[in-house]
Amino acid sequence: MILVTGGTGYIGSHTCVALAQSGHDLLILDNLCNSRADVVDRLEMLCGKRPVFVKGDVRDAALLANIFAQYRITAVMHFAGFKAVGESIEMPLAYYDNNVNGTLELLAAMRRANLRTFVFSSSATVYSDPDGVPLREDSPRSASNPYGRSKLIIEDILADLHRAEPDWRIARLRYFNPVGAHESALIGEDPQGNPNNLMPFVAQVAIGQREFLNIWGNDFATPDGTGRRDYLHVVDLAKGHIAALDYLNLQGGMLTVNLGTGRGYSVLEVVKAFERASGCVIPYKVGTRRPGDIAQYWADPSLAYELLGWKYRRGLDQMCRDAWRWQQQCDKRGTSD
Ligand code: NAD
Ligand code: UDP
Repeated sequence: MILVTGGTGYIGSHTCVALAQSGHDLLILDNLCNSRADVVDRLEMLCGKRPVFVKGDVRDAALLANIFAQYRITAVMHFAGFKAVGESIEMPLAYYDNNVNGTLELLAAMRRANLRTFVFSSSATVYSDPDGVPLREDSPRSASNPYGRSKLIIEDILADLHRAEPDWRIARLRYFNPVGAHESALIGEDPQGNPNNLMPFVAQVAIGQREFLNIWGNDFATPDGTGRRDYLHVVDLAKGHIAALDYLNLQGGMLTVNLGTGRGYSVLEVVKAFERASGCVIPYKVGTRRPGDIAQYWADPSLAYELLGWKYRRGLDQMCRDAWRWQQQCDKRGTSD
């Protein structure tokens, strides 16, 4: 059985489906601070079997000890954490506590239970302001905000742990920009309040919840002046976790890989693709740059292919189609916003 922390969240829920499809039993631990309990019902529909769900916090050592005593957990996939850059600047202590302390508690509980297979959600945010794309796993790292620093710190803790105790099997997966939703539209990203990220914002403009998209700058040194990112379908990302787990089970060791497509799309290209997918016009206004925004970056995903045989399969049009289908479901259920 796999313990999935944050398993009712956006990426965790899609990974639960992929894990179930690969024959794994699941235990989800989530405190529901950024997701809903009814995701478990939808996962039951998609997985053909109801995952065990424990509502609780990864920082709760007694709860973790109980879980490890009661269930035969063989590996942990750790998605639980806070992820909003702006919020992390306003609430650094809460971010370090939840992300860094939460991971430490989890690792300590695993160690006590003699469980040593760990898959961690890292991020492309650990790379320094990139002066050369594509970004490779050995590109320089740094952080410019507490969220990014929490990921850097955890990456370093995991490296230290593996150096001290080489029988740990650890994957540090550096996600690029996850977007889209499961094609069933039963699960997806459900941002509360104003979405920070481009794709959910565009989807809300398309459905008429918001009047227009604010494009944050069109004076970057990119072909059309707008920022370019490596968008990755969340189902492809989820499958990358299965490939990583298989690798760890077979090879052991410490794995650090980018999960991205290797190509960047600009904000305007995303807008056009979303218009094609939805049949809606997406009005936009060009504003000033978002503080700290980087012009462009994308992954060199070749190491993931070489080591894991993993490669993305779903292109930008499918990302937009699935994001649109999910947005329409949210609208019907009245769950968004
Ligand atoms: P999400 O907020 O949808 O999911 C995180 C889940 O963790 C939520 O269900 C939340 O309720 C739960 N959670 C948070 N703190 C918890 C705690 N202390 N105990 C138990 N549960 C807790 O986020 P997501 O987009 O699915 O991201 C998952 C992971 O991937 C995060 O670690 C995030 O930093 C990382 N990541 C996300 C992105 C992205 O763009 N979405 C990019 C790179 C990395
Ligand atoms: N972006 C934008 N308007 C928005 C949200 C995002 O123009 O409302 C741009 C942003 O400047 C960046 C790209 O879209 O160039 C992706 O932004 P997102 O926040 O989704 O990802 P990140 O910048 O964290 O990689």
